[in-house]
Amino acid sequence: MGAAEVISFEEARARKQWDALRHQLHARFDQWLDGLQEQLPEPELTLAQVTETVWNLRQALTGGLTEAIVEHAHRGEHTRQQSHCPQCDRLLKARAPVQRTVETLVGLVHLERPYFYCSACRVGLYPLAEVLGLSPGRTQLDVQKAAAKLVTEVPYDEAQRLFGDLTGVGVGSERMHTFTNHVAEGLTVLDVAPSRDAIERRIAEVAAGRFRRPVLVLGIDGAYVPTRPESARGRRPGQGRHRAKRALWRGQWRDAKGFRFYLMDGDRIVHVLSWHQVQNEAQLGEALKQVKEAGLIPEEQVRLCVVCDGAEWIWKHVQALFPQARQVLDYYHCKEYLHRVAKVHYGASVQALEWVEATLTRLYLGKVGLVLGGLQRMQAQSDEAAKAIANCWDYLDAHRGRTAYRKLRRGGYPLGSGGIESSNKFICHARLKRSGAWWYEINSNQMLALRCAKYNGTFDQVFARHQQRLRKA
Ligand SMILES: [Zn+2]
Repeated sequence: MGAAEVISFEEARARKQWDALRHQLHARFDQWLDGLQEQLPEPELTLAQVTETVWNLRQALTGGLTEAIVEHAHRGEHTRQQSHCPQCDRLLKARAPVQRTVETLVGLVHLERPYFYCSACRVGLYPLAEVLGLSPGRTQLDVQKAAAKLVTEVPYDEAQRLFGDLTGVGVGSERMHTFTNHVAEGLTVLDVAPSRDAIERRIAEVAAGRFRRPVLVLGIDGAYVPTRPESARGRRPGQGRHRAKRALWRGQWRDAKGFRFYLMDGDRIVHVLSWHQVQNEAQLGEALKQVKEAGLIPEEQVRLCVVCDGAEWIWKHVQALFPQARQVLDYYHCKEYLHRVAKVHYGASVQALEWVEATLTRLYLGKVGLVLGGLQRMQAQSDEAAKAIANCWDYLDAHRGRTAYRKLRRGGYPLGSGGIESSNKFICHARLKRSGAWWYEINSNQMLALRCAKYNGTFDQVFARHQQRLRKA
């Protein structure tokens, strides 16, 4: 007898177990076939009729198979007679089993599990629920996660319709709202940020085959979000006696301040980390500080660069946290100042356009000194022109050290803040600015946090945190 033919006791037992499970699964399948036979229409079926029938019955099959596997894997738990109290360790006797049905993406799963109760500690427990890692409530985490993914893309009502159509699991938009609130509750920048390892991997991919360290850009900017005041809460639909003719509150456009780290890979941008919230400058600074202090940015592996418009508060944070970073004044923002000068000085004329082009070219070539000198020599014809020229001069002079555009271009640095502007668009605007949508601040920030997680590639991480919190509770 060859060694290969020797089957260990463990293997034999495992095979026997598997055979038993197969048997149970076949029985479930047979049950399902009975249902199918009833539902399947007459012969000469079209493919669409077949797929529709199978589609409608599929969760009865997959849910049933899941049930059989769970029963088999935890058969000891189903018939468990005794358990210890988690608090006083007293030995408890099983009470009558309790039925519970949970909803999963593969269908309904019915569970029957024994209940234990310690009358001394007044603690009840279901050991099976714990081994299975069940979420409290009927809807399990896979459903919650899929729903959360969907509502970060489309409005709740639409999400409800799509979700039912595509998964066959009915979840109301109110419940989707509740899951989303729970998952996103209290998320901070560190909860949605990728790990240092993940960031280093992205950097290494861009750095591969290159002589110089890649440029990592930090962009900081604000995007407008339509918000509604807390006072708009109160009557819910159906509670009011009259249909409101108009809203009793006034919507407000608030500034969602955000930052984004991204890598320059030639003309391509490689996203690293975004964090956008309706928040003030100090809160943004605090979030940036958390990223810095958590050591997420491997500064020695990149050439760090910060691109912004002129806002003083931004430079203050940058200077304090990343003093080594190359600072770039958004080139396209300078353009606005120059256009303003040209308009009031030359009026709508060819001369105005020529002046703007020539001045922008000088700036592009890094000759900010020439531009400042030129502005100084301009003879303003009106107070308005004098003011625009002085404004422009002050602006460029204050940031002259950030306008070495020629050198910056050669170094592969970006000249404009397009990277943060596009994240304003795909993180904030794409979901929050929709017709008729006015957000409570807390909801807008939770949605923004989830959308940041999505683009940062940390949605699973956010769900792992959620699961952990559920377990603790
Ligand atoms: Zn006890």
